[in-house]
Amino acid sequence: MEYLRVSEAQRVVLESVALLNAESVGLEHSLGRVLAEDIRANRDLPPYDVSAMDGYAVRSADLVQVPVTLEVIEDIKAGDMPSKIVQPGQCARIMTGAPLPQGADAVMRVEDTQEISTQLIQVVTTIKDGHDVRPQGENMRNGDVVLSAGTEITPGVIGILATVKITQMQVYRRPRVAILSTGNELEAINAPVDMNKIPDSNTYALMAQVQALGITPALLGIARDDPLELERYLRLGLEYDVLLVSGGTSVGVHDYVRPTIEKLGVSMKFWRVAMKPGHPLAFGVLHGAAAGEEAKQRDAFVFGLPGNPVSSMVCFEEFVAPSLRRMMGHARLFRRTVSARLAHPLKMRPGRTEFVRVQLTHDDAGYVASSTGTQSSGVLLSMARADGLLVMPSDSTGLAAGAQVTVQLLDGTAYQHETNIRE
Ligand code: AMP
Ligand code: MG
Repeated sequence: MEYLRVSEAQRVVLESVALLNAESVGLEHSLGRVLAEDIRANRDLPPYDVSAMDGYAVRSADLVQVPVTLEVIEDIKAGDMPSKIVQPGQCARIMTGAPLPQGADAVMRVEDTQEISTQLIQVVTTIKDGHDVRPQGENMRNGDVVLSAGTEITPGVIGILATVKITQMQVYRRPRVAILSTGNELEAINAPVDMNKIPDSNTYALMAQVQALGITPALLGIARDDPLELERYLRLGLEYDVLLVSGGTSVGVHDYVRPTIEKLGVSMKFWRVAMKPGHPLAFGVLHGAAAGEEAKQRDAFVFGLPGNPVSSMVCFEEFVAPSLRRMMGHARLFRRTVSARLAHPLKMRPGRTEFVRVQLTHDDAGYVASSTGTQSSGVLLSMARADGLLVMPSDSTGLAAGAQVTVQLLDGTAYQHETNIRE
């Protein structure tokens, strides 16, 4: 099998995964989910023309010649309904959000008036019809689609949902994700320390990456490099929507993951990607038993991630996270990128896309990226310190200090439509 470019492998993965079905969720638990239905306004908002200021509801025609003295006929607070019609030479004291009385067509700010008595004010400036008035339906019109299916639920969106009184809504389901580590050398987190063993960190780093997407994964534990034991674990893992298995996907004699998942009916889409860190990465699909669209929703996906701790995390970022986000209905699948200047030269071997762990600082000219240290795929500390992954194009032989680079941000929840990876 050929080595795929990162972008080709991403395309294969994203074409394979399908949007999951919808489920109902309450407003309080909807943050970060994606709407699976259109939401319509249930009224005009504001329900009538209202004042945008504390001031006086006036007839703009009265203010063509200023200064002018107006009679104050009533006080209208937010929540009150006006009881009088404003006639020529009259005005009404009005508070922000209160309905504009009949006859008035503009609001004069308090600051631009002079109180002569409680019943009389003097106005010294002219204003136009509609000034400081929030027209009926300015926010939304009854029946309009205010949020369409596919909208990610942010705090602002939650405000809109509350405005239209939606307490329960349809959102795309979250995939059920299982995580499995493999290797005879691995030591479970609760096992006594054995100097001859390697602590299993992948289970937990991957767990956290999955959690960061709003999904609680199932931790299957550690399978030994034994075909029968592995088969048992993998069979269990394939009952989930997505199985992440790390280690054992290479071509070593004890790397049983690929042959075993194939034996279980998974069709392998690829297992070689020209990237560093990140090799070897396997991806396969276990097709659902049902027919048509429902079958697609029942497909199970397996990512055979590299055992090396940094490689498995980078593969998660580039392939697994975008897939999980697509399944949950997101349109923005990829980490947000920023443009930065390199603080120091970087050497590189062409032929594969490299992801360099960097720290970002900021100066007057923008972001500055510098390596977080040893870039070996086994050194998790340089990943733990990283703010982002600098993406080196596969044809690059290196970069000088000051070169413009693209960095994928690792923190936060901001995602974008395009990868901005140049290969
Ligand atoms: P493998 O892909 O199985 O050949 O593993 C590559 C390297 O990653 C080896 O040094 C493993 O010890 C290490 N490794 C594999 N799985 C894990 C894990 N779950 N946690 C930490 N290191 C691991
Ligand atoms: Mg192994």
